[in-house]
Amino acid sequence: MNFDLLHPRDQLVAIMNRIYHNGMTTLSGGNLSILDDNGDIWITPTGVDKGKLVAKDIMCVGATGAVEGPHRPSSEYPFHRAIYARRPDLRAIVHAHPPALVSFSIVRQIPDTKIIPQANRICGPIGYAPYALPGSEQLGENIAATFGEGYNIVILENHGLVAVGDSLLQAFQRLETLDFCARTFICAAGLGPIRTLDDDALALFDRRHDLLPEFVPAGHSSRERELRQQIVEIVHRACDRHLMISTEGVVSARLDADSFLITPTGVDRRALDIGDIVLVQQAQREQGKLPSRSVRLHQAIYDRHPDIHCVMTAQPPHATAYAITASPFNTRTIPECFILLRDVPIVPFDTLYQQPDATAAVVSLDTPVLLIENDCVLTVGRNVLDAFDRLEVVEFSARSLIEAIPIGNLVPIGDDEIRDLEINFC
Ligand SMILES: [Zn+2]
Repeated sequence: MNFDLLHPRDQLVAIMNRIYHNGMTTLSGGNLSILDDNGDIWITPTGVDKGKLVAKDIMCVGATGAVEGPHRPSSEYPFHRAIYARRPDLRAIVHAHPPALVSFSIVRQIPDTKIIPQANRICGPIGYAPYALPGSEQLGENIAATFGEGYNIVILENHGLVAVGDSLLQAFQRLETLDFCARTFICAAGLGPIRTLDDDALALFDRRHDLLPEFVPAGHSSRERELRQQIVEIVHRACDRHLMISTEGVVSARLDADSFLITPTGVDRRALDIGDIVLVQQAQREQGKLPSRSVRLHQAIYDRHPDIHCVMTAQPPHATAYAITASPFNTRTIPECFILLRDVPIVPFDTLYQQPDATAAVVSLDTPVLLIENDCVLTVGRNVLDAFDRLEVVEFSARSLIEAIPIGNLVPIGDDEIRDLEINFC
């Protein structure tokens, strides 16, 4: 779906729903706006429940100052107007108080996005605006002046954040991605020193060195159609379960010995459609579509392991906390965890892009989960649900481990009990 073609009212309602229902704002906090081609500013109202917003609630402030709509425009309208005045390149603004980012704003820090390459590339450099009274012209000046330095995200001191973009979806994705970094950072804080990528490592992500040649499919089998639907449904479910965000997460599924389907790069995960999924056949990509950047790794895994039928890479925050600290991940916590995950190795970041075969050699149905340093969690399975189950279990288990830290010392399952599990379940 082309989100930009929706009416501004419908875009604002759709994105406010995502922000509210993902726990990134309260019913009274947060406001969004779109600058129309004619200079009108479409903006969310003040004093209306953000969990129940509908299109007719959206306010429009004309270029001449005339206000249309059944409510009053957001009390933060002054800073929206000030940002558009300072940055004529922008078309949309989102403001919210996601708890993890508020944590950063109240300790007066900025989350480091160099923990994960795509997060760093989506967010770019992040600004910081000094405190001022909410709704005041001074707050507007402070925020607009910081955006004037070229940032696309600004942390508001003791308040929250503002993200901007040339579309509402882009502004939202910056907010969501920085919120992911903040949540992951907080999860990792109790595990050990947090590792970040240097510029050379980040540059590996930018290189499109492995663009596959194109082909035109002769047709689409019913099995292929079924798998396309399964991939779309599981990606949406992964978003609902906080295992993926709209800018991150890859799912592929084997079609036959020399072909598989994979999610595209750069497409909003929450709006993913069956037509977006890319068919890869004999190391060629379906014409006109760009597969996820990790397509070579997925190819290498399918080539090496005929029994693997699904591969997922994702960044759920608790499991990713292990990937950014390279902390050992102890799966000997509860039977479900060990049976589904077994022992989880961690592989270096650069092998993901430079040596996909080496990463494919580590994974198997006996070692079905990998942590890739500063990148993702990888799970495989005999089918889509099998790999998804592991993705859920790895995130639940990581969460239990992290949340256990302030309560007491972990007492793992003993070696004899692990042997029993291996004999009976593995
Ligand atoms: Zn606010």
